[in-house]
Amino acid sequence: VSRQERRARLKESIGVIAKRGMNLSAARSDRLWQVIACTRLLIDILGGKGPARASDAARRAHEFFETSLKHNPSDHKIECAKGCGFCCHLRVTAMAPEVFYLANHIRRAFKDSFETVLARIRAADADSRGLNGRERAKHHFPCGLLIDNACSVYAARPSSCRALTSISVETCKLGYDGEDVEVMTPAVWTEIRGAHNQAMWAALAHAELPSESYELNHAVLVALQTPEAESRWLAGEDVFAGVDREGAGDAADAAIKRRVCDRLIAGAMGRELPPWDPA
Ligand code: SF4
Repeated sequence: VSRQERRARLKESIGVIAKRGMNLSAARSDRLWQVIACTRLLIDILGGKGPARASDAARRAHEFFETSLKHNPSDHKIECAKGCGFCCHLRVTAMAPEVFYLANHIRRAFKDSFETVLARIRAADADSRGLNGRERAKHHFPCGLLIDNACSVYAARPSSCRALTSISVETCKLGYDGEDVEVMTPAVWTEIRGAHNQAMWAALAHAELPSESYELNHAVLVALQTPEAESRWLAGEDVFAGVDREGAGDAADAAIKRRVCDRLIAGAMGRELPPWDPA
């Protein structure tokens, strides 16, 4: 495929995702180009100069998530509803741009009650810091942003929360009660989350920024309490030092993540895609 053809494909795919997000019914190669297109949008945002370009990238990626959901309806009946917060008692992680976006949202949305919200997050962090997922679930410690069993930052919640959707509240309750169950999430949500995360990983890798995920209570607390946290992180400082983080997993997972990123970056920058070799 010539450079010109690759450019045309990228331009066309950017048009598709701007209008309707991912098209999960499209051919596999079209879906790949839609993720490449999202990667390019995020690369352009992160390549800017603004001090809020990380949170701007998260906002755009969340828009991509929501537009994609809207245009790829699922046949399943979703049982999630306001007032049901079983999953908000699990360990949640988010990438740094999502944490900064959420922190900025909290500053704006809770201008008049900022200290109260900060105290809630601090208390939640004190309860949950250092606990692994299993321990956290056993203690039923809620997310610091869960108020009256509803998410108080719904519009700015990270992709892990957006994607955790259930077709069986009964299963969620069993999990909350300590049974070893898997939340039944329709494929539409997991596929869109995969596209969202891959595009964000690749854009961060292109900008030479870390793409790990951080435990949410502690990371939001750090983002809210550290002066100029986003600018400093963009300048290379590890403002989340000491926060529990999840990388790519073991060496094999890390190698796959690198190959995924290499392909997305190559496509986004108009270069030939390296062959896919997950081995
Ligand atoms: S951010 Fe919102 S949706 Fe996510 S765990 Fe916290 S309260 Fe629940």
